Amino acid sequence: MKHSCTFCTEEAIVSVPHRGLRLCRYHFINYVETEVENVIARYSMLEDVRKLLVAVSGGKDSVALLHILSKICERKKIDIIAVTIDLGIEGYSDECVRVARELCHMLGIRHVILRVSDHGFTIDDVKELEHRLRRPVCAVCGLVKRYLLNKVALQERCDAIATGHNLIDVAQYLVINFLSGNLEAMQKLLPVTPGEEGVLVRRIRPLYFIHEKETKLYVELLGLPVVQRVCPYSERQTRHRRKPPFQEYLRAMLLDLDDRYPGTLFHFVENFVRKVAPVLRIESLKEYTKCKICGLPTSRSDGICAFCHIAGLIRELKSGRRN
Ligand code: SF4
Ligand code: ZN
Ligand code: ZN
Repeated sequence: MKHSCTFCTEEAIVSVPHRGLRLCRYHFINYVETEVENVIARYSMLEDVRKLLVAVSGGKDSVALLHILSKICERKKIDIIAVTIDLGIEGYSDECVRVARELCHMLGIRHVILRVSDHGFTIDDVKELEHRLRRPVCAVCGLVKRYLLNKVALQERCDAIATGHNLIDVAQYLVINFLSGNLEAMQKLLPVTPGEEGVLVRRIRPLYFIHEKETKLYVELLGLPVVQRVCPYSERQTRHRRKPPFQEYLRAMLLDLDDRYPGTLFHFVENFVRKVAPVLRIESLKEYTKCKICGLPTSRSDGICAFCHIAGLIRELKSGRRN
């Protein structure tokens, strides 16, 4: 049976059960943009921000994020730059860079591409050396991305870094960190991670309460360019196994739960922010010194930051200087 939109006489194309809405194309686009704007306002994400860095991987979330932020920043007269990290993953990274470039061109936004290979390795190398590094490829990839984004944001004098983490990403990380008792990691999953002058740039997550199916539909309805491939190292690529990888299984389970009981994820994450996070002790950056190699902060006892440490190790293993 066809339903009309909650706000007009047009046919509804989507329902938003936790809000009790049925929406036409126009009002759905409007709904997503308003939700993001409300989250930005509620958590003062753009307070004192004159220049904003948006991390754009080319995936649906970062594409939707850049599109929405370009409108908001234009109105608020905030300078915006998009940054894409070329991870050096064969058959994948080229498409990410191409899509991000196309989107930035379309939106008239300055685009900066950072190449991991400029540091003497690629994420393909990390995968190959995964066992010898004793760290999963995605953990190293995440560290590399965080480091490079912070570094370029400091160089470009940006006041905040926006990333495309959405509701299911946050819910999944919260559960994983709760299961392993990693409260420190849970603290870092708030809508805003404060920065520290000249050292660490504030992180904002404007899609914090947005469902991934909403960003997917948003970019489809607007015909925005999106990367179609999935990273070859993502757990989604290993579905053929009899037992699905833990994180992928958990994500599917949480999404299924939210389908059966709409609003579950939204309330879970909202309750975390409102009731749980305030009782966790939020620590600012630990005691740190400047990395002996790059000058960015490190709390490691050898005085070398995690990025410089792992980059050095990878280069040594690649060149055979270390077994
Ligand atoms: Fe990096 Fe691919 Fe893992 Fe994502 S799935 S963290 S892009 S290696
Ligand atoms: Zn409508
Ligand atoms: Zn360093």
